[in-house]
Amino acid sequence: MSLAALNPRHIQNFSDAATLEPHWGYAMRALPCKNDAGSCEYLDVVYHAHDVGMLYVGILWASIAGVLLLWAVWRQSSRSSTGGPAYGRLADDEDGTRPIPSQRRPLLSPLITFTRRHLLQRNPLPSIFGNASRLQLLILAVLLGYLTLFTFLGITYKTWTTPVKAQPGLYQTRSSLGPWSDRLGVLAFALLPFSILLASRESVLSLVTGVPYQHFNFLHRWLGHVIFAQSLLHTIGWCIVELRLYQPQPSVGSAWVKQKYIIYGLVAMGLLLVLWVSALPFVIRRTGYEVFRKAHYLLAMLFIGGCWGHWKQLECFLIPSLVLWLLDRAVRLVRTGMIHYYHRDAASGEKGLVTPPTFGFSTFKAHARIFENEVDSAIVRLDLHHSNPAAAWLPGQHFFLTFPECSLWQSHPFTPVCQPYTEAGSGSQSYVFRAKRGETKKVASLVRGRKGRVGEKDERGKVIKDERVAVILSGPYGQSVVEDDGNGEHDVLCVAGGTGITFVLPVLLHHLAHDAEDGRRLVLVWVVRHRSDARWLEGEVQALRDSKRVEVKLFVTRDDHAADAVEKGSASASSSSSASRAEGRPDLASLVSSVTSTSRPTRVYGSGPAGMLNDLRDAVAGCEGPKEVKLVCDDRLEW
Ligand SMILES: Cc1cc2nc3c(=O)[nH]c(=O)nc-3n(C[C@H](O)[C@H](O)[C@H](O)COP(=O)(O)OP(=O)(O)OC[C@H]3O[C@@H](n4cnc5c(N)ncnc54)[C@H](O)[C@@H]3O)c2cc1C
Repeated sequence: MSLAALNPRHIQNFSDAATLEPHWGYAMRALPCKNDAGSCEYLDVVYHAHDVGMLYVGILWASIAGVLLLWAVWRQSSRSSTGGPAYGRLADDEDGTRPIPSQRRPLLSPLITFTRRHLLQRNPLPSIFGNASRLQLLILAVLLGYLTLFTFLGITYKTWTTPVKAQPGLYQTRSSLGPWSDRLGVLAFALLPFSILLASRESVLSLVTGVPYQHFNFLHRWLGHVIFAQSLLHTIGWCIVELRLYQPQPSVGSAWVKQKYIIYGLVAMGLLLVLWVSALPFVIRRTGYEVFRKAHYLLAMLFIGGCWGHWKQLECFLIPSLVLWLLDRAVRLVRTGMIHYYHRDAASGEKGLVTPPTFGFSTFKAHARIFENEVDSAIVRLDLHHSNPAAAWLPGQHFFLTFPECSLWQSHPFTPVCQPYTEAGSGSQSYVFRAKRGETKKVASLVRGRKGRVGEKDERGKVIKDERVAVILSGPYGQSVVEDDGNGEHDVLCVAGGTGITFVLPVLLHHLAHDAEDGRRLVLVWVVRHRSDARWLEGEVQALRDSKRVEVKLFVTRDDHAADAVEKGSASASSSSSASRAEGRPDLASLVSSVTSTSRPTRVYGSGPAGMLNDLRDAVAGCEGPKEVKLVCDDRLEW
């Protein structure tokens, strides 16, 4: 908003001012004040409240930066004292902490036990906060505490009745509602870059804290609610002031609402309302996730544009928001380009042909298999080969996959379920995913429609040249979740439900490949609906069994009849054989306590349905004693 825009109706007369005092993020102050005493006192309060508000915003950002700095230092110091992970970067655990070196454990063990017992558990209000842990709730509560204080502090609360110029006998009410509404507006602007930081896939926060980007989604969503509430209250506050308290009405109100910066403000508020409603879980379920995602990006950028038109003075928050958003997109594009630019089709190499590198952009061709099931939706397995070090990945990381034959405009996260690799040379990746309602369903239809039909025409009349599916990879995202102590200092328990196996299997394959023989105890608990589901990864699970180093426990929850070899009930979970099967859901509490009953530290990896992960959290939280039991779960952002 410019001074010229303010001039015609503003309380201050800028042309008559001796000096114009600059205030960061606000209109200039015309000095000396030549209004009546009440109006001058009101202006003092307005400008002071704004300046203090900007200071509070500075404190808020300094606090965020301080916490991140401390976190980074803590990560770095624990990395150097543990000697650092021998293999790539190590992700932090559910609670965001890192493994603690043994010599420091006695001192910190009460803190570790407290965190595990009280903060890792599911939150007491899942209907409101979903599957967030108590720790996530605590962080949100601290942020809300800060914001509540900064919303009310530093404002003098008072009401002034002042005469209307040139209209003797008419008075208007000036109150602290104006500066309070401004404070809310400033805070909402200031939170925008933080909200974008929390939502970025190429996440600066992950780089600093080691926490995978999707774990910040909870805070991003709640910050969205906060920004919406602040903006709404800011709008309501100013509507009351301008349409009711200022006189004479309706002329003051109608002059106010016709101003450009107010029109922009109202447009921004309208966009934010649509943004907020479209991000509510039940609306996302109706519109579909992909529609929500695209609309969310677009509306967010339009909203920032609206904010710019409304209050350009606070561009210090708008420019970083746009830059962070554009950087996120640009880095994604560059990383995808790096994977696909130098790609050479390894399949030709296999046949002994010398193929020159393919320069330019080319997709990977994945061999696809489909596992149909009468009761549940199908499962698709993709296997692809490539020779690009840019696609090297670590256990716990995932890629975004685009299937150009279905749509160029969608990319979905999937976790490779095979031996991770970090070096240059030929690598292979396998993916296993369930065909849901959107893109995955289209991929399943594509695979079905091509199976055994090379040379025939598809439903669009095109000749099917290849059974394989074209894939574009982007990533990897997330961080390594394994710690290579080499000599097996900690045991590993992996608990997976259904396709959650993709998160935990690479951890076990990694340990098999890198650990000394008889190093640590490795246990896999895989809960599937049907016995036939084990076919998705027959070769991989068989390899674990054959190694005789992994105890594999398969639980089948929905089949009516048990197989001959199936052991009944969860008691079989404690079986000492290297492979066992059982009917029904496992008793996770007794499983976890049976693995963690020794004095050795344990890492528990979990992935699967939300209910199962909540049970796992509770089971880990209930572990007795100060020994280190760390839980690492992936977050699949299921709605
Ligand atoms: C880090 C991560 C790793 C994953 N790894 C696997 C895996 O290895 N195997 C597997 O079967 N599934 C995995 N998923 C889940 C998988 O990404 C979704 O099932 C898939 O995107 C659904 O696509 P759709 O269009 O068919 O979904 P829809 O039927 O349209 O939606 C179903 C649900 O899938 C989720 N979803 C849809 N699109 C996306 C998206 N672009 N980004 C994030 N979530 C989305 C939403 O929660 C949505 O409610 C993973 C998810 C994440 C976040």
